[in-house]
Amino acid sequence: MAAPKRVVFLDRDGTINLDHGYVHRISDWEFTQRAPEALRALQKEGWSLVVVSNQAGIADGRFSKDDVDILHGYMKSLLQKTGVYLDTIVYCPHHREAGCACRKPEIGLARKAEEIIGPIDYKRSWVIGDKESDIGFGKNIGAQTALIRSPYWQPESLKIQPDMIIESLLEFSEKMANGESKFDRYNWRNEKIITSAEAAEIAAELRGMGRRLVTTNGSFDLIHAGHLDQLEEARKQGDVLFVGVNADNAVTAAKGPSRPLIPEEARCAMLAALICVDYVVTMPGSYSEEPMLSLLESVKPHVQVNGPDYGEPTTWVEWATMQKFGIKGHTIVKRNNFSTSEIVKNIRSTK
Ligand SMILES: [Zn+2]
Repeated sequence: MAAPKRVVFLDRDGTINLDHGYVHRISDWEFTQRAPEALRALQKEGWSLVVVSNQAGIADGRFSKDDVDILHGYMKSLLQKTGVYLDTIVYCPHHREAGCACRKPEIGLARKAEEIIGPIDYKRSWVIGDKESDIGFGKNIGAQTALIRSPYWQPESLKIQPDMIIESLLEFSEKMANGESKFDRYNWRNEKIITSAEAAEIAAELRGMGRRLVTTNGSFDLIHAGHLDQLEEARKQGDVLFVGVNADNAVTAAKGPSRPLIPEEARCAMLAALICVDYVVTMPGSYSEEPMLSLLESVKPHVQVNGPDYGEPTTWVEWATMQKFGIKGHTIVKRNNFSTSEIVKNIRSTK
């Protein structure tokens, strides 16, 4: 299986080309400042380039699909002359009110791109655009987001915060070249931090070598000695321990708007530094039905482990999946009273 691709999902009008309003003629086409150069730099850094565009003008009857395809052919040929090869271009031709699954911020265009270019590592991917719907799209697919300053939004009225606000695609490419992408921006050794697709490959190999695989998962927000005790016990259930880490938006969904206290990449790095943890697996965001099931389906462990509060394995939400793959359950024995919520309470009461 090919390694999942790191993608920069690019909005079109206002990002790659100047937004003159319903751009559809070749004569309307004008790149934003040094856009081809920016794309070439990103491509050189190993990013796949996918254009994702809402083209409701088609449903409005302002122009046809053929017009759009001709314009895209023109854009591709101009870019190729500068050595830029787009991996694919996908767009939504539907009306704003059509309720389709592919108009950004819906995620349909990402799925369509994935059918064309193969598996995508969403967590390490980026979405860049000049509208809030681009940022919504990015959050919905679990990618990082960059919002270009434009008349379409005001900083004080943004409902969703992007990971970065920038002037242009050019500035974005410069930031990427400086290693500002999540998981790349720190001096942490990250070999143990893997995606669920990578976990599937590694687990298959280890299983073939007769190793007993163990999984557990959680938020691990503010790591404490209770976590260490649980992870040591989990590790003892087999030979190799895979720890699934809930994405930031999944932690927020489960524990409220003030969580997580620590961002995902930092939670992953802390876990990866523990000797009893063999692999840290980043999990899909809360847009996925049940992120933990994707961990079980990738690793297909011999044993799944949960904390003392989870009770008997037959009551776990993953029980059906565990039975399907013949996975045993192990509940950690409660030996201490460490808890992140308690620690936070203590800190708040400390003068
Ligand atoms: Zn659509």
